[in-house]
Amino acid sequence: MIDEKGLPADEVLAEIRALRAADRPTHGGRLFAYVYDPAVPGLDELTAAAHAQSAHVNGLDPTAFPSLLAMENALVAAAARLLGGGPGSAAPDVVGSVTSGGTESLILAVKAARDARPEITTPRIVVPASGHAAFAKAAHLLRVTLDTVGVDPVTLRPAPADVAAAIRPETVLVACSAPSYAHGVVDPVAEIAAVAAAAGVRCHVDACFGGWTLPYLRRLGVPVPPFDLSVDGVTSISVDLHKYAYAPKGVSVLLHRDPSLRAAQYFAYADWPGYTMINPVLASTRSGGPIAAAYATLRHLGDAGYLRLAAATRDAVTALAGAVRDVAGLRLMAEPESTVVCFTATDPDLDLFVLVDELTARGWHTQPQLRYADLLPSVHLTVTASVAPRVAEFGPALADAVAAARAAGPVRLPPELLALATSLTPEALTPELVAGLAAGLGLGAATPAPGSGRAGGTGAPTPERMAVVNTLLDAAPPALRERLLVEFVSLLQRPAW
Ligand SMILES: *Cc1c(COP(=O)(O)O)cnc(C)c1O
Repeated sequence: MIDEKGLPADEVLAEIRALRAADRPTHGGRLFAYVYDPAVPGLDELTAAAHAQSAHVNGLDPTAFPSLLAMENALVAAAARLLGGGPGSAAPDVVGSVTSGGTESLILAVKAARDARPEITTPRIVVPASGHAAFAKAAHLLRVTLDTVGVDPVTLRPAPADVAAAIRPETVLVACSAPSYAHGVVDPVAEIAAVAAAAGVRCHVDACFGGWTLPYLRRLGVPVPPFDLSVDGVTSISVDLHKYAYAPKGVSVLLHRDPSLRAAQYFAYADWPGYTMINPVLASTRSGGPIAAAYATLRHLGDAGYLRLAAATRDAVTALAGAVRDVAGLRLMAEPESTVVCFTATDPDLDLFVLVDELTARGWHTQPQLRYADLLPSVHLTVTASVAPRVAEFGPALADAVAAARAAGPVRLPPELLALATSLTPEALTPELVAGLAAGLGLGAATPAPGSGRAGGTGAPTPERMAVVNTLLDAAPPALRERLLVEFVSLLQRPAW
């Protein structure tokens, strides 16, 4: 990897380009997860240049690099204004921080809530089952107990009364989503914030996914319920700029209604011989690159740009949902109210996971979601503005893929494999057993057993046909899914010698 003499720049870039060829397409409007593409000509070049200008600047010390402080404060103000805060609003004292992503924003919201109540020795948070997995990660890392509130299988929302009932004396934070990632539905924020406030508990709105589009959709006439700082009782809200603000990866904003609510978010340490460390976020050294790139994106797109992109996205969502409705055997999980189209199968002869593979084979990359509690497995489409020019092709492709999936028939797992998946406990899963399972599923062909010393790392294959794997995971309880996938990913992540 470290060449003796080093390679010329053009050769290095050619290598990366060759590696990138195996990736899913980040442009072209056929990828419905992971990537948020506005398809604005010139934006990639602009953000790359902005990133380069600030890549070596360190956010560790805002006094040493005022450029970064200025850009952060501008991003926070922009997010706050969009989300019901700022001068003349219901939240005039709003403050915030730029974080590396939604997960970090949520961890910090939980940390601030936990550390503001040091008298509570066994803190807890209340989160709807539809809340993002990052809340569970935050609870795990911060040793806070996660109290999950179920969602209605039809509305896919939690009932405020159930949230109220879950609040205990040790609860430091109540959370809700606007909208949820899995289904794109907006929780009853006002009612949940009210029950939290009545109990004297903070309320965080996770608007990481769609917080940047909901205000624009509302301006376009979509009925968006109140969800932001304009709502009494909402104490913090997060929005990812690397999602629908269309900034390159690595930027989210966490807002608190006032500085006192943010206070416990900071980590400060002077009890060592080096510099006094004052960190508002998890990282200490922080690159200015993503912040500058996000700043450039917001400045370039402007309010009119975001309104236009939201309109294109809304039109794409309407068209995609129509395409789903037109196919017998499919059903929308919810009427789309934001930027997600999510559907399930109503016909046992139509296997959703086979359908996902058939769509992939036709160049459409969707995201399968496994069954959970009493929710059926589903297919998730995150819709971005880049999808708009493609929607006319989606309907025929979906119909064609459905026909192919019906012809192929549902996945039938070998009974012994199914029995294994449903009976194994996570503790019984040794690395050897998982390697055997993975190999049996075609996941392990070129992947070495742990400790074999063979090359793994880059180039390890993932199968074209994921339906068998998804069917096995779908049959397994969540704890087993976690273990299987950890073992599998750990086999991929090996040094490339
Ligand atoms: C994406 C997302 C997160 C986590 O954000 P990352 O940037 O992936 O860390 C949290 N909440 C919601 C609703 C999200 O969509």
